[in-house]
Amino acid sequence: MGNTEQEIRLKEVQADLLSEGDQNAIQEAIRQLDLSYSPYSGFSVGAGIELEDGSIIGGSNQENASYPLCMCAERVALYHLSASRPGTKVLTMAITARNQNGIIERAVFPCGACRQVILEYERIQNSPIRLLIYTRSDQSAYR
Ligand SMILES: [Zn+2]
Repeated sequence: MGNTEQEIRLKEVQADLLSEGDQNAIQEAIRQLDLSYSPYSGFSVGAGIELEDGSIIGGSNQENASYPLCMCAERVALYHLSASRPGTKVLTMAITARNQNGIIERAVFPCGACRQVILEYERIQNSPIRLLIYTRSDQSAYR
């Protein structure tokens, strides 16, 4: 096994300055918050992924009384894509979350399991997947 190097660059941007595709992905992530099944945590997560043809697919977190059966929004979106449109490249994944106070103020990032799945999808498609983390501080563009 050889050494691998991963680089992560973070950049904070105003949502209304993003491309139309990015904004569509964010709007899908926000829409997915209402489709979350999260009665146990009260923490809804939505993901919207922009595909190479400009179309958008979403996913939301799905909980279960048996905790290990829960599934994150990011993986729901990617597995939805793989099951319905295999071979389609993902350009960007937008992620947001909401608790009892509304959309989160600070960025939340994918968990380790989701990062592993995202990494494998990147390898399969041989190109990176950009992540956009949408927070309340950017929400003014969507009021
Ligand atoms: Zn996750």
